[in-house]
Amino acid sequence: MKVNGTLIWYYYICPREVWLIGHGIEPEQTHDFLELGRHIHEIFYQREKKEILLDNAIKIDLLRGKKVVGEIKKSSKFLKSATMQLAFYLYYLKKEKGIELSGELLIPEERKKIEVKLTEEIEEELKEAIEGIEEILKLEKPPKPEKIPHCKYCAYKEMCWA
Ligand code: SF4
Repeated sequence: MKVNGTLIWYYYICPREVWLIGHGIEPEQTHDFLELGRHIHEIFYQREKKEILLDNAIKIDLLRGKKVVGEIKKSSKFLKSATMQLAFYLYYLKKEKGIELSGELLIPEERKKIEVKLTEEIEEELKEAIEGIEEILKLEKPPKPEKIPHCKYCAYKEMCWA
């Protein structure tokens, strides 16, 4: 599986989750946390919402004014993950499509809009993350579970901790 935005997101949260998703082991789709995310996407930004899936690598929530990629999140709790996921979209568009855009993280419930730019430092960090993900995916078995605060919201929690 090619590295995609979802794997980048989870890379900054849990390597085991990266492996499970990367190996096609789907979480429970009716998990409350995933449902909440879907509702937020449906309720806010309806008019400008244009979900764009590119090469199975990036899924852009919306384009604002043709120059800004918008990524909608339900909270700023996982800000690092969200920032790097959006930066990956910008990186992918630049490298694969020759399009240079900037990004905005949109967190409607907190009335926040955070600008994300693809700097040289972020590009370097993304390259390391991509390599890190590729290493995790090469493992024969998933990394052992480690208890982290995200576990209680994680769709795989039954699998890891039952
Ligand atoms: S339950 Fe915890 S350890 Fe298991 S995949 Fe989710 S975050 Fe990782």
